[in-house]
Amino acid sequence: MKGLADKPGYIIELLEGGATLEDVIDGRICEQALVEKSAFVVGDLGALMRQHVCWQSVVPQLQPYYPVKCNSSPVVIEVLASLGLGFICANKTEVSLVLEHGVPPENIILSGVCKQLAHIKHAAKNNIQHLVCENEAELSKISRLHPSAKLLLQLTTKAHAAETSMAFGFSLKSCRHLLEAAKELGVQVVGVTFHIPSSCQDLQQAYTHALSDARCVFDMGMDLGFNMNILDIGGGFTGSEFQLKQVESAVRPLLDAYFPPLSGVHVLAQPGSFYVASAFSLAVNVIGKKMVARHWDSITQGVNSEDTEFLYYMNEGVYGPFSCKLLGNSIAAPSVHKHVRCADGVYPSSLWGPSLDQLDQVVERCLLPELSVGDWLCFSNMGVCGLEEFTCLSGSPQLPVYYTVSTCEWYEMQEAGVALDSAMKNFSMVQYSA
Ligand SMILES: *Cc1c(COP(=O)(O)O)cnc(C)c1O
Repeated sequence: MKGLADKPGYIIELLEGGATLEDVIDGRICEQALVEKSAFVVGDLGALMRQHVCWQSVVPQLQPYYPVKCNSSPVVIEVLASLGLGFICANKTEVSLVLEHGVPPENIILSGVCKQLAHIKHAAKNNIQHLVCENEAELSKISRLHPSAKLLLQLTTKAHAAETSMAFGFSLKSCRHLLEAAKELGVQVVGVTFHIPSSCQDLQQAYTHALSDARCVFDMGMDLGFNMNILDIGGGFTGSEFQLKQVESAVRPLLDAYFPPLSGVHVLAQPGSFYVASAFSLAVNVIGKKMVARHWDSITQGVNSEDTEFLYYMNEGVYGPFSCKLLGNSIAAPSVHKHVRCADGVYPSSLWGPSLDQLDQVVERCLLPELSVGDWLCFSNMGVCGLEEFTCLSGSPQLPVYYTVSTCEWYEMQEAGVALDSAMKNFSMVQYSA
């Protein structure tokens, strides 16, 4: 096992004889104990398969298009491409990456409402027909550089605007104007896209508005002679089956009413976090420790009523794989690697990155057993965080990523069409037993 990380390409460990993901993490921690105790990432390809099976069983009528920006690890792209997903690319680099994995251009949508000229030209050259558009300036760029494009108009939703505090998309009011402008420029419009983020509180209301607005745009487009046949209901799927079912029950009756199968409209969605969040875990090492006195405002903390808090410093922080913290996402408390005894109770703790910068606080407050310098913490659900650290697209030093899959899930994946063939030169499977 030792030394594998030094080889070029991607190594996928096939877990045999009941070996688990935890065994792999334990093994890597032991290995790291002898060297630099660097943080590392473990990717579980079986999780991608499980999420795919869940998607197909709950929302079989929604064709999944994966937004590459959520996690552009080549292994993820390869597996999702083999499972037949389409891809949402925000720029030319993402388009090239996906094309390299053999994805047909008709399964790619170039998103982003303000695109660089070079990216539009690149799409035209590579036969990427489907582009997202929301305003006239964009429309005129596209008509010049990619006149045969097929546009999906990005419709604004309240929930999206509330989350980003930016006005994405066009409103229903400006819709006729935009469609007429497209008509005049001779650009085809084929559908509508919108996004309702997972932070949205009232799914029913949000989808009701968005889908009835989308229906109006379809009708207006058809009036003008466009062949409207793609409806994209965006992302906003957390990854839990429960939440997916909630979205499904909000959306299905609306689709039946506004876009029934007989209408011939293809309905697609953009599950990003849904596929990748749970597939990656991050192990970090505790490199420093302090005990401070704290005066908590709240009435009762329920534990070890002393006013002390442990501050732990880890070897990675918000300027690394926890960068999504800077975007306002909170990071769930980690689990403590098993060699720590939990019998002595838990204490208020906060977790910090190594920069000693005020912003570099990864977890504000959680309850942990007392840790020592050198202990390991394991953060799960890290598939969307710190994506630039995972990808081969950035120049920054990367954390090692160890990919695993259990033997039975690997068989299941192969049955579903995953072969890793096209990229076999970059991937190799090795056996791992506990
Ligand atoms: C980021 C992004 C998504 C992903 O949304 P999730 O809610 O994380 O699945 C979907 N679509 C586009 C265009 C995005 O940029």
